[in-house]
Amino acid sequence: MKHVDEFRDPSRARSLLDQIRRQTTRRWVIMEVCGGQTHGLLRHGIDLALEDTIELIHGPGCPVCVTDEAKIDRAVRLSMTPGILLASFGDMLRVPGTSLSLAAARAEGASVREFYSPTDAVTYAAENPDQHVVFFAVGFETTAPATSLAVLQAKKRGLRNFSLLVSHVRVQPAMELIMASEANRVEGFLAAGHVCCVTGFAPYEDFAGRWGVPVVVTGFEPVDLLLGIAECVDRLEHQKSGVANCFGRSVALEGNRNAQSVVDDVYEVCESRWRGLGVLCEGGFRLREEYREFDAEFRFPEQSGKASEASGKAVTPVIFSTCRAGEVLSGRIQPCACGEFGSGCTPEHPLGAPMVSSEGACAAWFRYRLRSIGS
Ligand code: SF4
Repeated sequence: MKHVDEFRDPSRARSLLDQIRRQTTRRWVIMEVCGGQTHGLLRHGIDLALEDTIELIHGPGCPVCVTDEAKIDRAVRLSMTPGILLASFGDMLRVPGTSLSLAAARAEGASVREFYSPTDAVTYAAENPDQHVVFFAVGFETTAPATSLAVLQAKKRGLRNFSLLVSHVRVQPAMELIMASEANRVEGFLAAGHVCCVTGFAPYEDFAGRWGVPVVVTGFEPVDLLLGIAECVDRLEHQKSGVANCFGRSVALEGNRNAQSVVDDVYEVCESRWRGLGVLCEGGFRLREEYREFDAEFRFPEQSGKASEASGKAVTPVIFSTCRAGEVLSGRIQPCACGEFGSGCTPEHPLGAPMVSSEGACAAWFRYRLRSIGS
């Protein structure tokens, strides 16, 4: 693997900026799909450096941000159930559901613990047989292999006290939704490099062809981001759609077959509700029938909320009605267009998930752009 300094080289970055400015004949609209890329673009000032030539808009690629409120409510209910420990990645703890976040539930006495990896949660379950550990399995195709492995480990160890609350989502259906919208302005995509490490980029060929857009697999360092933008601009200027890989040091056409295999073994594709975007056909994963015993929604149907939904009871209304996360996540507005940004909503007192998550677009704007907006 090439040394990462090569992709932080200021002179190479300046040269790519010049190349993009020279080549651009009109202001193209390009969406970076991944929240990590959003933070990289803002942290390095690439969006400002190119604002006269490119409009960069932020996509829905922050897994914490798109986790459905109802799913967080289920996690909260599970955490309040005697005998259950709700295990989660740290970012998920502060994201509000329809009423409480997991952190708020913990403050009220619920059993919630942060884990760095799902397999650590399996180990904890093995060492604490008196507790049932429910791991909140959140994230894109990137984290699904690790939660698949956790299930396989739990099965191999014969654990009866470990399960997953699954909320994994898939990137491409969200891109389909954005392109299908009548309000869509996106003309080219920077595809999320880490997701493509797992999936490869072959699946984007059909998407790019059908919608007639360039899709450029892009990394996270400043030169990676500029290489992706330059390739996307080149294709837009030459009316050339299709897929290009500008993250070749990590991504291969077919992706990581071992990771795909373990995910395919444990999960199947399903319809999924995304926060702010609604129900997406093939938008997520669920555990396969043969792993049902590790599905917290099957093991604890009442606490998971399945019973009340099945009986037709309405889900609790959203409290934070002023939050415009759905518009931010689909690229319809920038965070600064939300009336709560920086005043009613801050990282210390977030009203919505994009301000909580370390990959959220609102958090990125607060961290890197608030001063320039105010000045
Ligand atoms: S600034 Fe806060 S309230 Fe506004 S869209 Fe972002 S998360 Fe929601």
